[in-house]
Amino acid sequence: MSTRTPADCLLCRILRGELTVERIVETDHVIGFMNEGEALSRGHCVFFPKRHAPSLHEADDAALAEILVLVKKVARALGVGTYNVLQNNGSIAGQTVFHAHVHLIPKWSESEGLIYERGRGRHMDQKEMAARIRSGLARSG
Ligand SMILES: [Zn+2]
Repeated sequence: MSTRTPADCLLCRILRGELTVERIVETDHVIGFMNEGEALSRGHCVFFPKRHAPSLHEADDAALAEILVLVKKVARALGVGTYNVLQNNGSIAGQTVFHAHVHLIPKWSESEGLIYERGRGRHMDQKEMAARIRSGLARSG
């Protein structure tokens, strides 16, 4: 288990506004943002509980429930019906940021498939995707 504390936790820093990200949604328990730096595809976004918890099994139930509903709403807002939902726990499982989080990785064409290549979507239009999500969320309530 990571020894990182919330003081140096990347997602806690985003929560405190110490790091600038393209936020797409915020609820009582969850923040969602565009994963611009390490995007695996166009529209790749991440959702995380506001309360620090290294792994899924340590996270608040309310946050976890909200996250899946947000994944559904954001997929609809993006207008994408093909996507992966990725959630890693522990370094052996591929977790690199030790604050539980869930990835929504849209797939726009057959060539994208189940590809796990960090940064693949970095230069894609993430801001345009963020605007599309916000607009879709506003319509769905
Ligand atoms: Zn944290």
